[in-house]
Amino acid sequence: MPTDAPIDLLPDAPALPSEESHPVQGLLLDVDGPIASPETRTVPPGIITDLLLLAAAGWPVVFNTGRSDHFIRTQVMEPMLAVGIPAGVTFHAVCEKGGTWFSFTADGAGEVLVDEGLALPTSFADDIRDLVEEKYAHLMFFDETKLAMVSVEQSLTATNAEYLEGQAHFDDDVVDVMHSHDMGVTRLERDEPDSSGDIAYRIDPTIISTDIESVRVGKDLGAERALTLVAPLMDLPRTWRTVGDSRTDYAMADYLHDQGFDVAHVDVRPADGIPDKPYEVLTEGPLIHEEAGAAFLARCVASLPWDAGASDGAAPL
Ligand SMILES: [Mg+2]
Repeated sequence: MPTDAPIDLLPDAPALPSEESHPVQGLLLDVDGPIASPETRTVPPGIITDLLLLAAAGWPVVFNTGRSDHFIRTQVMEPMLAVGIPAGVTFHAVCEKGGTWFSFTADGAGEVLVDEGLALPTSFADDIRDLVEEKYAHLMFFDETKLAMVSVEQSLTATNAEYLEGQAHFDDDVVDVMHSHDMGVTRLERDEPDSSGDIAYRIDPTIISTDIESVRVGKDLGAERALTLVAPLMDLPRTWRTVGDSRTDYAMADYLHDQGFDVAHVDVRPADGIPDKPYEVLTEGPLIHEEAGAAFLARCVASLPWDAGASDGAAPL
């Protein structure tokens, strides 16, 4: 008999998974891509259901998105409310890459908080709204729901190829507008400081949008805010899973790893290549975008103790 066999096991105890083998894990989720389809911009019902199951099992679920609070309320919270958020469950949403945040429960959304130090000047936002109306209305729309950053997004009537071609011209025009406001800006490899030599803003082009934002926002700031939202409600789990479709989403896992958490990152669009990281990077085989997100969440649900996750009463393990 092995000498390291556990001696305190009760042989007749029910074969319930121990808490040790099924620890609560934290989920920090980018939304566009892994949760919301980049094509329809909506969340599949199976993802809504699985997130509710995981939260009901005690997993902290935090969305960490460049999207506005309005998008999370309409595309994530309202479908969850329609299914039913269990009593005692709180979801958190860090929006605009850390610039705004709120929490929601079965009672709906709490107050949206804005870090005013990260918000762009209103006069600048007005100029970008005008720029879109005058030159780019056939390709994109101005996102009126943003409270801290300034964003434009591909119109559903434009093709992505058309949008991406116009986006480069739009982004150049934005740099000109920023010069007129003496706002220093960086876009990818290009730096355009203000008259003091400083760069306080960033233009971040994505495949369906351009965000104009403080250089201090990012998925790492979002991860930091996520912990401050979860910590008052529960002991922070040691283990976290971050999920995203962009290189910038790795900053969530980078932050948590640096803080000493056990983290793995799920990359749902690994075609860009998987960077070398000091933590595990997971993919869902050939699946991408929200199909990969759904597959990952389904695996999380399957890992729950049988009585928490299985709706048909069968043990998924
Ligand atoms: Mg994304």
